[in-house]
Amino acid sequence: MVLAESPLPTDPQSSAVSDGSWTAADGAALYGLDRWGDPYFSVNGRGHVMVQPRGERGGALDLVELVQELQGRDLSLPLLIRFDDILEDRLERLHAAFERAIAQYSYSGRYQGVFPVKCNQQRHVVEQLVETGRRWHFGLEAGSKAELLIALSLIDDPEALLICNGYKDRRYIETAILARRLGRQPVVVIEQAEEVERIIAASQELGAAPFIGIRAKLSARSTGRWGSSVGERAKFGLSIPDVLATVEALRQAGLLADLRLLHFHIGSQINDIAVLKDALQEAGQVYVELTRLGAPMGYLDVGGGLGIDYDGSRTATAASTNYSLQNYANDVVATVRECCEPHGITPPTLVSESGRAIASHFSVLVFDVLGAGALPGAVPEPGAEEPLILRNLRDTYRSITPPPTPDQEGAEARGLERLQEAWNDALKFKDDALAAFRLGYLSLPDRATAEQITWACCQAIAERLAVLPVATPVPEELRALPAALAGTYYANLSVFRSAPDTWAIDQLFPVLPIHRLNERPQRLGSFADLTCDSDGKIARFIDRGQVKPLLELHALRPAEPYWIGLFLGGAYQEVMGNLHNLFGTTNAVHIRLADGGGYLVDHVVRGDTNAEVLEAMEHNPDQLLERLRLASEAAITRGSLKIHEARRLMAHLRTSLGQTTYLQG
Ligand SMILES: *Cc1c(COP(=O)(O)O)cnc(C)c1O
Repeated sequence: MVLAESPLPTDPQSSAVSDGSWTAADGAALYGLDRWGDPYFSVNGRGHVMVQPRGERGGALDLVELVQELQGRDLSLPLLIRFDDILEDRLERLHAAFERAIAQYSYSGRYQGVFPVKCNQQRHVVEQLVETGRRWHFGLEAGSKAELLIALSLIDDPEALLICNGYKDRRYIETAILARRLGRQPVVVIEQAEEVERIIAASQELGAAPFIGIRAKLSARSTGRWGSSVGERAKFGLSIPDVLATVEALRQAGLLADLRLLHFHIGSQINDIAVLKDALQEAGQVYVELTRLGAPMGYLDVGGGLGIDYDGSRTATAASTNYSLQNYANDVVATVRECCEPHGITPPTLVSESGRAIASHFSVLVFDVLGAGALPGAVPEPGAEEPLILRNLRDTYRSITPPPTPDQEGAEARGLERLQEAWNDALKFKDDALAAFRLGYLSLPDRATAEQITWACCQAIAERLAVLPVATPVPEELRALPAALAGTYYANLSVFRSAPDTWAIDQLFPVLPIHRLNERPQRLGSFADLTCDSDGKIARFIDRGQVKPLLELHALRPAEPYWIGLFLGGAYQEVMGNLHNLFGTTNAVHIRLADGGGYLVDHVVRGDTNAEVLEAMEHNPDQLLERLRLASEAAITRGSLKIHEARRLMAHLRTSLGQTTYLQG
């Protein structure tokens, strides 16, 4: 076969190129890295993914070298690599965008964001954001008691906001009220009409009130996955009649002076900026009306929804956005100003709860491929007395493999014709072989040979097609061949643990090999994970505003790893991930650029061990081991197990308990 049989070095660091016409830049373009990756991810001349954790401000790490060095520290794959500089950079960009918009529109208010803790509750992540965000009085948003506890204890800046969303019972509300005495700035956002009474009762009992916010249900239309988060039937927020009733109730309880914030959230990953504009206009008017009703207000919280361009297409499709961070900030600032100005109302401090936009970029999941299945094998050597059918198939295969005669008028078209003819022949001979087998005229080994040669024909034709100029009109039937050859790549990973949204809500993340980008990928494939679940797969890939079922991948080389990166998954994936098949958390590391060059491994968070996931299900690992010890003693007595075998069995089990749940080669 022609495929990649040229002598290739086995060192993944090698700069060798298998195909002179294919460069690392082609690799970056193929996987869209040059679009969605900017400014954090790129490719170097060796075909490795590079990480620029501080964007354009300098400093870069070779991701492949980094993974090798982390493996040297006994951190096995799959590995979650968190680049804390990226987290910091995202926060800076968000603030810079709002600062620019505020200057451009001469907005007299400020921007003061919060991070919705539910996006990534990991201690190191939240701590990092609080620390970095101090200079802007950046706060946190909590949606449950546990998240409130995180927020209350980590935020010590009296000016930072602490937005309390989610359903609240009396204890939650009282906690928020008392936290105000602690010098924090909790804002209790009323999500349900019933909460008003609870807030009033708690305030009266404690003789103090929290800052109060109202979440409005907007009627603005929305689209996409979270479209149902808005409108009259939305799960959260107060309808306009409820907003009015709430204002009255607060007034009567003497708490209207504490109504400071209007909140709305129209769902995550807003794809179309027009949707946001509608919502902003509506919310802006509600804000104006609340001020007129006598509430002091001061804050307008535009919620989350700031989207990520996962496929780099800049479109209003599900995996993209038709706006930039700056467009978003401009629209928020300009629209709110337009609402307030005609009424002479002081423009509010603008709050956003951008989670996905802050936390997506900073973590990269790297996993290894354990093997690739269903790919056609080599053509077996001819036997002594081969049946005619096999000889015909071999002739067909030979007719495909010689290179086309170059530089002849119309050679390309004639070449295509010949390929089509050869494919028709191959299919015909294969059918003949099957018929002959059914009638008892062909042996099982001969049938196997017939199948192998047919696959080899398919493979050879696909390779010939791959190098044709893009515009060549290829017959439909031949066009489908590469997909027919697609292979399953077995990934050392649980999709349910590490990328649950790909399974649950068809989320697309950029997925690509982190090395060999300077080699033309010769295969098409999708990934199957370690779980015994047919849903455990990654079989939808970004494709410039569309989705493709197969990804261009490289043929595996013996004794050489093939490393795949899943990018932009820093938001939601970790906490939504589950223990399906008892695959636990992966190893995780926090990497920071060192000032003098190189990097620091700030934190290492070891993945769950088998013992830990068993305990999570209430099993006792020691008891499990003890039962097996007794069973092996019984087997020794019966004579079916030797003592040294029993020792080996117990040693494997004991070692596994202390190791991660993933395969270790
Ligand atoms: C989930 C959520 C957010 C975060 O949304 P992103 O789209 O990730 O920015 C913000 N606010 C509320 C109320 C939420 O429920």
